[in-house]
Amino acid sequence: MLNIKIFGIVQGVGFRPFVKNLADAHKIFGSVSNRGSYVEIFAQSSDDDLKNFLDDINHKNPPRSTILKVDINSLPDKNFSDFQIIESIHESGDIFVSPDIAICDKCAEELFDPNNRRYLHPFINCTACGARLTIMKNMPYDRERTSMNEFPMCDACAEEYFNPNSRRYDAQPICCNDCGCEVYLLGKNLRGHDAIKFTRKILADGGIAAIKGIGGFHLACDASNFDAVQRIRDSKTRPTKPFAVMFKDIAAVERECYLSDVEKTFLDSSQKPIVLLGIREQGTGNRIARNVAPNINKLGVMLPYTPLHMLIFNFPDSLILYFPTSLVLTSGNPSGVPITIDDDDAAKNFNFCDAILSHNRKILLRADDSVMDFIDNRPSMIRRSRGYAPLPVFYESNKKSVLAVGGELKNTFCLAKNNLLYASPYIGDVGDLRTVEVLKNSIHRMSDLLEIKPEITACDLHPRYQTTALAEKISSELQIPLIKIQHHYAHILSCMAENNFHGEVIGAAFDGTGYGDDGTIWGGEFFICDSKSYERVAHIKKFIQAGGDKSAREGWRIALAFIKNLDIARELNLADENNLRGQKFLLDKNINCVTSTSVGRIFDAVAAILGICKVSTYEGEAAMRFQACAERSNKKFRAEFMNTEEIFTEILNRRLIGENVNDLARLFHERLAEMTAQICEELSFKYKIKTVALSGGVFQNSLLSSLTNDKLQRRGLKVLRHELIPPNDGGICIGQAVNALQN
Ligand code: ZN
Ligand code: ZN
Ligand code: FE
Repeated sequence: MLNIKIFGIVQGVGFRPFVKNLADAHKIFGSVSNRGSYVEIFAQSSDDDLKNFLDDINHKNPPRSTILKVDINSLPDKNFSDFQIIESIHESGDIFVSPDIAICDKCAEELFDPNNRRYLHPFINCTACGARLTIMKNMPYDRERTSMNEFPMCDACAEEYFNPNSRRYDAQPICCNDCGCEVYLLGKNLRGHDAIKFTRKILADGGIAAIKGIGGFHLACDASNFDAVQRIRDSKTRPTKPFAVMFKDIAAVERECYLSDVEKTFLDSSQKPIVLLGIREQGTGNRIARNVAPNINKLGVMLPYTPLHMLIFNFPDSLILYFPTSLVLTSGNPSGVPITIDDDDAAKNFNFCDAILSHNRKILLRADDSVMDFIDNRPSMIRRSRGYAPLPVFYESNKKSVLAVGGELKNTFCLAKNNLLYASPYIGDVGDLRTVEVLKNSIHRMSDLLEIKPEITACDLHPRYQTTALAEKISSELQIPLIKIQHHYAHILSCMAENNFHGEVIGAAFDGTGYGDDGTIWGGEFFICDSKSYERVAHIKKFIQAGGDKSAREGWRIALAFIKNLDIARELNLADENNLRGQKFLLDKNINCVTSTSVGRIFDAVAAILGICKVSTYEGEAAMRFQACAERSNKKFRAEFMNTEEIFTEILNRRLIGENVNDLARLFHERLAEMTAQICEELSFKYKIKTVALSGGVFQNSLLSSLTNDKLQRRGLKVLRHELIPPNDGGICIGQAVNALQN
C-alpha cells in the first residue's frame, strides 16, 4: 500500500473527487482526505495500476489546482474493500489557500440556460470557480469553516455536493435558487431578480450603483456617460485618478482598446485582473467618457468575473438591447479608507448612490481587484490582490515564522513560514487610522487561516510610519524580536525573492520616498546586497526637497530647487507669484528643507517644467502623464552619460528654446536609463557582480524599465525585474520577510 501526500493548491479545487474518480478507474482501494495542509491518499492495488494512478494524479490534475510536492511512502497492506473519500482531518503544516476564482465557462453557460435549475442564479459556482479566500475562516476548506455556514443546503444541492461525479462535488459555496445567499437592494424592498433588474435600470439611465462583489463593494456607472462618471468623481473626491472599466466581453474590449495575445490571456484568465490597455484613437463602440482616465493613454480594463457581473450586463429583461457594454467599476471606499464590505458601512458611505445592490454572503477578508500592466510583453503587477493573494512566493531560507507588516502606502503584509512567503491582499494607504484597524484585523485573519504564529516581526525603518508603530506593538505583545528594514533594500529583496535569486546583486531602487539610514529621503539608490545585508554604494545626486508633504505632490516645488531662478520659473509659469516667492523663501532660508535622492520627485520636477503636470491630484499622476507624453515621441537621441542634475539642466535648456515636449519627455527617460546602466556597469566591474535587480515604484514605468533593461543587457549584465510582485510599495512586505528570515 502507498501513502501519498500531495502538497500545493489542492483544497477547494475538486482534488478529492478527482482522486476518487482516478482510483475507481485504476481499480485502486483505499482513501483520500484533506489534512488541512495537504491531501493524503492511501492506495492499494497492483504495481502497474498504482503507477498509472500516480501518473494521472501528476498530469491530469484539476484546472485550478497546483501540485507543488508529492511524498510517497510504502506501508503494509490493509483490508480495504473500496476507495473512499473520508472526512477532513485537521493537521498543521504548510497551507495553501486558494485565491478567489472567476466564474468558469461551464457555470456561465448554466447561468443563462433557462432549463438549468441555477438559471440566472447570482451565486452559481462549482469546484473550479467561485469565492475562496474572501469567505474562508479556517482550514481545512469545508463549508462549515466558510461564511456559507449560515446557509443550509437544499436537497438538490446536497445531492450534488456529496456526489463525486458531480462538478459541484465538495464545492463549499454551492447554492441555488432554492437555497443559499441572495442579493437585495439596501433601503428598498426588492430582492433577487427584481433587485438586479432595478440596478440595471439605474445604470442604463445614467445613475450610480454600489454593488457588492467578492472582496468588497464597487461603485458602478455607464462608462460612456460623462455626467455619471463625474458624479462618482465628485462624491469620491477623486478629481482625476483613473477609474477601471468592466466590459461586457472581449469583443467590447477590442472595440475600444488594443489587445495583444498575452494581454488577452491574462485579461480572460481565471484571476481576471484589471489589465492596463492602450486606448484606440478611433474606437468603434460606445466611446469611454473622457473623464474615466483623463490625461493618460491607458485604460484599466477587466471582464465580468462573478455571476452577478454577468447578470448586470446580460439579464434577459427589456433593457437587453441597449444596456451599456462597459461600466466604470471602481472600489467603493471613502477616500483613504479600505474597500467597504458590509451593509452598515455601505448605507453610510454610499448615500449618494441611486441603488445599493448587496448580498448576504459575508466577506471575511477584503480583496480589491488586482491591477496589471505589461512591460516587454511580460506582466508587471501594480496591485496584487484578488485572484493572486495569498499564493505564496517560494524563497529558500530558514523555517522560522515571520510577520512582515509592509510599508505605509499601498500596504500589503506578508506571513512567512517554511520558505513560503504569503503576501496578503491589498490593504491600502495606512496613513488613516481606520486602515490601521483593517490591517490589524486582516493580520489576525490571515495568521489564523494560515496557522502562522510569528516568531519574528519585520517593518520599515521609518520612525513615523503607522506600520512601524503597529509592528512595535505586536512585537512587544507577543514578546518576539522586531527588525527594521530599510525601504529600498526591501524593494530589491522583493525582486530577488520573486526571481528566486540567492546570490549578490547590484540593486537599483528608484521610487518616491523611503526613509534612509541617514534620516534623509532616499529614492535613487544603488546597493550591493544579498539577502542578509546591503551596502549603499551609489545614489543619484542629492537635492533639496522643501515644503514637506506638498513637495511630494507638487513637482514645481522640486523644479524650483533645481532652477533656483525666479525669472525662469515665471517664464515656465510654474506656479503663481505668491507660491513661487514662498517656495523660494523656504529654499533660501533652509526652512522645511530636507535632503533627498528621490528619482520619483525628479520625474515630478521634469513633468512640471515641461508643463505636463505641475501638481498631482493622486499619487503617481505626474509620472503616468509624463510617460504617456514620452510614448508619443519616436525621436532617437545619442546616448550620453549625465547625472540627474545635468539631465534636468539639459531638459530645461531645451525646453526654454522651445523643443517639443513629448521629445523631451522621451529624452529624459533615455538619459535616466543610460545613467542607470552606466552606474551599474561600473559597479559590476568594481564588485565583480553580474546581476542587476531593478525595483521601486518608478520601475512601474514600462518605458524606463524597458530602456534600462536593454541597456543593461547590452552591457552583458543579467537583469532581474518584477512580474507578479509589484515593484511599488505593495511588494516590500516580501522583501522585509526575506531579510527577517535571515535573522
Ligand atoms: Zn464553475
Ligand atoms: Zn440549493
Ligand atoms: Fe517605495
